[in-house]
Amino acid sequence: MSLSTKQVRLTLLALAAAALVVGCTPGTQAPSPGDDPAVETPAPVDNEPEQEAEPDREPVAEEPEPAEPAEEGEGGVRLVTNPDAIDVLVNKQNALSADYVPPDLVEPNVRFIFDEWHERRLMRAEAAAALEEMFAAAEEDGIYLAGVSGYRSYEYQELLFTSYVSTDGLELAQRYSARPGQSEHQTGLAMDISGSTGECAADDCFAGTPEAEWLAANAHKFGFIIRYPEGKEHITGYMYEPWHVRYLGKDLAQAVYESGLTYEEYLEQNR
Ligand SMILES: [Zn+2]
Repeated sequence: MSLSTKQVRLTLLALAAAALVVGCTPGTQAPSPGDDPAVETPAPVDNEPEQEAEPDREPVAEEPEPAEPAEEGEGGVRLVTNPDAIDVLVNKQNALSADYVPPDLVEPNVRFIFDEWHERRLMRAEAAAALEEMFAAAEEDGIYLAGVSGYRSYEYQELLFTSYVSTDGLELAQRYSARPGQSEHQTGLAMDISGSTGECAADDCFAGTPEAEWLAANAHKFGFIIRYPEGKEHITGYMYEPWHVRYLGKDLAQAVYESGLTYEEYLEQNR
């Protein structure tokens, strides 16, 4: 999509987000407008450079309580039964329930590209600590990272996805944005990262930047993987997102990194 289209999309989104966030987003304290990333000056909310990618499918918003083995939900989407597990798999085939909220969300003490309070500053405690460690290590290498978007509630993701679909159409939107319940951001274990200026935040132009290269070479040392690698859309369901890292813990992240596989492939081969 063109930049201008994206800007329009972001602006619309920001406006919509402002309305929604005020009312019901779990975990949100102040009615922060916003929505994602970077800019937030004009519109009450800001915009969302973020193109998250992830989930796809129909909103599996029912079933609050997971049963035992994954149950088949609508359209073959399974409901995740171990949502609190650090190694949980959430994608277009495995969704979180609409009422799932991670148990230990905290705000990592790192730089963000926006100033206001918003739920997307949050991550689960273990992932937040690892993120702080990673940002500090990057600075020692002269790389200044910034958080763009971490935790997202089901409601917030629903707002984003709906907005993207209205702007780009379903076919394109589902290649970079997850349906509610299918976003890794709802786990509290994912973070979109940009350079400290916020330039190219969650946008294709982030690829090839010093920050992207640093993340690709070092994220696994801190327990993160680049979740949506280039050329793997047919497996992950999403376009290349060099800015989206997923926390798995150091041992597992290291293993996935060394395998050269996507997380889906790794799990398939190591179950
Ligand atoms: Zn993301």
